[in-house]
Amino acid sequence: MQIAVVEDDDGVGDALVEALGTHGHEAVRMRRGSDLLLGHRAMDAVILDLGLPDADGLQVLRQLRVVSDVPVVILTARDDERSVVRGLRGGADDYLVKPARLAELLARLDVVTQRRRAAGPSAAEKKVTEGDVVVDLDAREVEVAGAPVALTAKEFELLEVLVTRPGAAVSRQQLMDAVWGDAYVAISRTLDVHMTGLRAKLGRPGLISTIRGYGYRWGT
Ligand code: CA
Repeated sequence: MQIAVVEDDDGVGDALVEALGTHGHEAVRMRRGSDLLLGHRAMDAVILDLGLPDADGLQVLRQLRVVSDVPVVILTARDDERSVVRGLRGGADDYLVKPARLAELLARLDVVTQRRRAAGPSAAEKKVTEGDVVVDLDAREVEVAGAPVALTAKEFELLEVLVTRPGAAVSRQQLMDAVWGDAYVAISRTLDVHMTGLRAKLGRPGLISTIRGYGYRWGT
């Protein structure tokens, strides 16, 4: 498996990468939460430290969960119950306190990745229907009132992020991270252009509502 090791401590991080490597995994070391948000797509699993230099790991996890259901095992020195509960509620698949035994970490990684495979790529509904708009996430097709609508790849990716979080506010930053991979590279204007195109093609005003100063929401 390709496993992201998100860990700013070189001692811990290097040891993990080496240990995972000797067990047949390809470990990719990341030092910051933003590295994970940019590079999660190629990963089969994530080992996530909570004390990171650029952001709290729980915050990183929340942002990751908007766009990805990659299995995440938190590995942290924080052993208080509140952190454990927040981590699991925040979308972690498992939680281990440092120092973790390697065999246990490997076993838990196996369990969470197998569970995810059994559930399919995403346990969520593959077809999203809202009024007369049907979004088929597998086929990457959209129909409005029974007629197919041709979206560009970026327009579809924007739509995908929104419809998989129906009724939830999704920030501009989250959209840019998810679709362009980097909110710093993608200028806001680019998002506006694609969002305008998407809305025009759907032809259903109000289906994607604007939350001023924040982002967007799918659903009426
Ligand atoms: Ca740390």
